[in-house]
Formats: sequence, structure tokens, C-alpha cells
Amino acid sequence: MPELPEVESVVRTLRNGTPSLIGARIRSVDPVWPGVCAHRPDDLCLEQLVGCRFDSIARRGKYLIFSLSCADSRAHFLVIHLRMTGRLFLVPDRDALQRHTRLVLYLAGGHALRFDDPRKFGRVWLTDDPGTLTGRMGPDALTVSPDEFAGRLAGYRRQVKPLLLDQSFVAGLGNIYADESLYRAGIHPRANSADLLPEDVRRLHAAVTSVLGEAVAAGGANIDGVFKAGSFVINVYGREGAPCRICGTPVSKIRLGQRGTHFCGQCQPL
Ligand SMILES: [Zn+2]
Repeated sequence: MPELPEVESVVRTLRNGTPSLIGARIRSVDPVWPGVCAHRPDDLCLEQLVGCRFDSIARRGKYLIFSLSCADSRAHFLVIHLRMTGRLFLVPDRDALQRHTRLVLYLAGGHALRFDDPRKFGRVWLTDDPGTLTGRMGPDALTVSPDEFAGRLAGYRRQVKPLLLDQSFVAGLGNIYADESLYRAGIHPRANSADLLPEDVRRLHAAVTSVLGEAVAAGGANIDGVFKAGSFVINVYGREGAPCRICGTPVSKIRLGQRGTHFCGQCQPL
């Protein structure tokens, strides 16, 4: 499942790759599976993308936000959430559609932006205000400052793993990197946020930002075989029963807030 580092990797590939999506104009739109478009009352319809040019690409949490300039000179934003299995490819426009292709934006100049999504949970929005989608999210988990992290955490009394997954606390952490961050910080996933000492909070913040930063630099992780390019090494997620890389204790797996949670009972005492 793509998380913040994998989404950031997609942003950087589309922005900095050859060819780049920046500056490309949309020639036509093929909504192969119309359900990909999450129709909201304030959204415009996808056909209005024709003629628009990609000006910039940004990430907010796990949302991809494409800024467009269109003929009517209004600011439009194409917003995409990959959810479980969504992937974006910039491909030659003569490439055949794949079995799980849900949307294709054909570009002037011979390329196409293709959205593939086997599980069909991914969605696209066309909106004049991405804040209607992302407005309630907390600061980005990759760039939140130590003080802001500590200040926000002080307002909660919750088990720390579910708190890290709460996008209104910090945006972008998912199940994999929440487990990896707690492992690096040496904090038990069931620990109550209100019981963390100031040095625990500082260590947790440093773990979150360093784990995500390293994963972004590595192009993400090889997760579920979906993002095969990433080389970030996972320590606990999906390694239940395997020896902890620090102390050799078998990695434990529990359910916490309906999510599988992986940790080392020795390195992360409660
Ligand atoms: Zn250990």
C-alpha cells in the first residue's frame, strides 16, 4: 500500500523525470472506469481537463495535488489519492491500456498519464479548492517541526500507534511507517501518548521524520510487490516471528485499532 514516501516518490518522478509532467497539456481524457472520479458537489467534471496544462505537483499527506492552468484562466486542481493499490505512470500514448487501467489523460507531445488501480479504491477529484479535501489534516509528517509535534501531541490522551495514524494529528503516516517509527523510537505501540516523557516525544518526532526522510530518499519500500523500485529496508512491518535486527527477539504482531501492529517487545517495552 503506498504511504507518504511512495506518494512523494511518485510526485518526484512525475515532476523531475524525463519526460516531466510539468508543462504538459491535456489533449483528451479517457475515464475508462468512471467510478474513479469522486463526484463532489463542488467538483467540476473531468472533461474540463481538456486543454489544461500541468503547472506543478505537490503532496499533502497521501494526496497528490496537481495544479493546472486552463483556458478559462481559473485555478484548477486535479487531486488524486492512490489508496490501496493505485499507481500513476507517464507512458507513451500508444501504450496499450492495462487490465486495471481506470483513467488516462492523453497529453500533447505523445505521452499519457495513466492511472492503474486493481482494487478500485483510488479516487480523483477536480476542484478549485484542495482544502475541501485536505483541510482537516494535520501538518505533514515529513516536515513537522519538533515543537509543533510535541505541542499537538500534548492535546491527546491516546494509544500512540492509533494516534500516529490519525491524519488530523499528523498527515501522511500509514500502518507501515507508523510501526517503523515506533520501533526506531523504542516506544511500545500501546503506550499512552499522555504518559510519554518529553525525551520520548523528541525521540518519536526524530524517528518519524528520519524514517520518512530515509524512505523518500530510497524511493519508498518494496511493499506488497507494488512499489518494486523502492529500497527502504523495513524492520518490523510484516516481519512477525522473524528476529529483531537489534536484539534477535522474534518480532510480535498484535491488533491495535483494527490494524495489524508489529513491534519488538524487548526494544519497545511498555
Ligand atoms: Zn529488539
